[in-house]
Amino acid sequence: ERYVAEGVIRHRTQLAPFQFTHRGRHLRVSSLPSPSGSRVRIWREVAERADATEHSIPAFDMLGRIPEGACIADDSGHVLAANDAVRRLYDIPGHRVITGLALDEIVAAAWRDGPVGALRAKIRAGLSYEGAPFEIELPNDRWRRVVTRHEQPGVVYQVHSDISAQKRQTAEMRLKAELSAGEARTDSLTGLANRRAFDEMVAKEAAARGCVTLIATDIDHFKIFNDTLGHAAGDECIRQVGNILHEIATRGGATAARIGGDEFAILFPSNAPVTPQELAEQCAARIKQSQIGDGGIRLSVSMGVGEGPTAELARQCADQALYAAKRQGRDAIVSWPERAV
Ligand code: GH3
Ligand code: MG
Repeated sequence: ERYVAEGVIRHRTQLAPFQFTHRGRHLRVSSLPSPSGSRVRIWREVAERADATEHSIPAFDMLGRIPEGACIADDSGHVLAANDAVRRLYDIPGHRVITGLALDEIVAAAWRDGPVGALRAKIRAGLSYEGAPFEIELPNDRWRRVVTRHEQPGVVYQVHSDISAQKRQTAEMRLKAELSAGEARTDSLTGLANRRAFDEMVAKEAAARGCVTLIATDIDHFKIFNDTLGHAAGDECIRQVGNILHEIATRGGATAARIGGDEFAILFPSNAPVTPQELAEQCAARIKQSQIGDGGIRLSVSMGVGEGPTAELARQCADQALYAAKRQGRDAIVSWPERAV
């Protein structure tokens, strides 16, 4: 009774033609609903085909009508049938028999049998997870997505889509996002970290260590430099001072940043081979020796070393120390809280 009931349901809901064997005769049945609610059904006797497995698969003929790549495989992953879209997606030439091939073999052939062992293993693993889409890379930045369905024992349905355009779009968007994130954190004139990036670094360091050391740095009488040699020369001066600070800071494990205008800052690391005062002295000495401005103006900087348990307190100390250095007559290094320099 159940057999009959299931047969009735199957006949009522059937959309695709299917073939079956009845008392040794091979029959193909097509069925369509009519507008009046009844069904039109046509049985046709067909000759037996060589591959009996293919005949036992319902909806087999629909493969060719599916716009995506569609493939039926056995549970060892070997193709029982595939539509032409699969051929196009994986560059399978018209003369090559696709039945019996495994997907990883097909992909290896698309790579001209190059070293794709890892990719083949990934494909074999991917095919075994029902319903979980996975991606396959092909030569020339082409990508396919495959999703499988293990509908009945021994039969696996696969759908293959071309996702190259989406992959390229995603990669472009990620690159753009990375670039703009980089721009938002970098000073365009010097290439150093900007104030925003520097503030973040200082906050992280303070949170991690409970103590942070900064060196605030400002070019002395920069207005005179600008007025005498021009704005372009002023820009070049800022760039060169930035380079010197970056080079010396990096050597000492520290990070230099441009805070704005002619003002720079250095984040001093916990495990530096030198003291912050020594690092500051090295920077100041190199800037004085440099020929920035072609020797027309002798350039110097004032520096304030500040230390504190939080980013805010360290910054206040460094600013105070810098202010004190300027008041002393510039070209000076002051530490706050005070310590011998
Ligand atoms: P002090 O020793 O007290 O620091 O004197 P100062 O002349 O350096 O004074 P201050 O630091 O206030 O002046 C900074 C000048 O830097 C003012 C501004 O015209 C100039 N400046 C700020 N940003 C730029 C820039 O990007 N390029 C150039 N060329 N000049 C800049
Ligand atoms: Mg200045």
